[in-house]
Amino acid sequence: MTHDPASLHARHQSVLPSWLSLYYERPLELTHGEGRHVWDAEGNRYLDFFGGILTTMTAHALPEVTKAVAEQAGRIIHTSTLYLSRPMVELAERIAALSGIPDARVFFTTSGTEANDAALLLATTYRRSNQVLAMRNSYHGRSFSTVGITGNQSWSPTSLSPLQTLYVHGGVRSRGPYAGLSDDAYTEACVADLEDMLQQTAGGVAALIAEPVQGVGGFTMPPDGLYAAFREVLARHGILWISDEVQTGWGRTGDHFWGWQAHAENGPPDMLTFAKGIGNGMSIGGVVARAEVMDSLSANSISTFGGSPVTMAAGLANLGYLLEHDLQGNARRVGGLLIERLRAVAAGLDLVREVRGRGLMIGIELVRPGTDERSPEAASLVLEAARERGLLIGKGGQGGASLRIAPPMTLTIAEAEEGADLLADALRAAQGRLA
Ligand code: PLP
Repeated sequence: MTHDPASLHARHQSVLPSWLSLYYERPLELTHGEGRHVWDAEGNRYLDFFGGILTTMTAHALPEVTKAVAEQAGRIIHTSTLYLSRPMVELAERIAALSGIPDARVFFTTSGTEANDAALLLATTYRRSNQVLAMRNSYHGRSFSTVGITGNQSWSPTSLSPLQTLYVHGGVRSRGPYAGLSDDAYTEACVADLEDMLQQTAGGVAALIAEPVQGVGGFTMPPDGLYAAFREVLARHGILWISDEVQTGWGRTGDHFWGWQAHAENGPPDMLTFAKGIGNGMSIGGVVARAEVMDSLSANSISTFGGSPVTMAAGLANLGYLLEHDLQGNARRVGGLLIERLRAVAAGLDLVREVRGRGLMIGIELVRPGTDERSPEAASLVLEAARERGLLIGKGGQGGASLRIAPPMTLTIAEAEEGADLLADALRAAQGRLA
């Protein structure tokens, strides 16, 4: 078999949409993976510091998942939602029990977008309102309803939306009007902003949807407890809290199994949505909601492929592995060390403004050296330089100026150190180019 990545790229351009986002001037064609590594069509090996796109939660080609998928595919691939499927019921039971939401019901979809779409449908139906609160700099998906509420303008191609959206402060704290405030003062300011907004809003609001750590937004996070403080206000107004855990679920943040648990003081959210890593790359998304909210739809609804047995078998095997091997604890330990290493590297570099994150979700905001101006150019240079050194990372954030690091959660300390060294070298090379 001959591989010609350049011609594959040309074919890609002639048949796929221009807005599908590809990394690198010479886009990479990946052929296989193992553990925390992937290989391209030219035979180069890379340390994957982005876990696919946070989709490879445990490891590439994890034998337990591969075996579960093959066995299930050999039995029956799809049963449709008209019939019972044991893997679907079992995964729903496990997720409901882990969710922290009382009397939880689970609806499976095939992506995070659809999970959020379903959560919005449930909230607006339950509350009989099409007004929604979302966070500035947020990202919730690519469907009509979810781009409509997405606050990060780079990812929101239309201002038309079936929902009326009001954007709340609390997503990015290192810049903007509240920059420099202490945790408590920042929380107080964001809560006052929320109260003020609700006072000026005619009619009811259905829900607040928020990512506990903003993913596409560049791994920015509020102080612990911000959403607990919001929850107290929301509860007074009967507004539901939807925690978008598409990137933050399954222990990736190290300290908690779900991102909302850093904001748990006033109880769990009414709904949470999940996707990305649970299937280790197989397409699983879903919503967990209190029964009262989940069952508020009066018409029938299904997802033809949501809950498909092969994906559910992958999810069960992957989740089982994650829990048995305490990968949340690994994310805390290895992620903590990695953040420390990266902060030490950043201290000597003008192009790094901030290293932030928790567990294995680490964001590095880049600026034009000697200024406070966000630099998407620097981010692109670092990505290219890292690739040349055998390291794959992600980018995002406001204006695309942040690097994002979210490796598979089995990352070892040796791999974290190796990746940190490669990244340090790539950052230095990019700074040299910008000087
Ligand atoms: N919500 C969050 C927080 C996300 O990061 C994403 C994807 O990046 C989505 C929703 C949409 O998920 P999907 O791409 O699976 O539709």
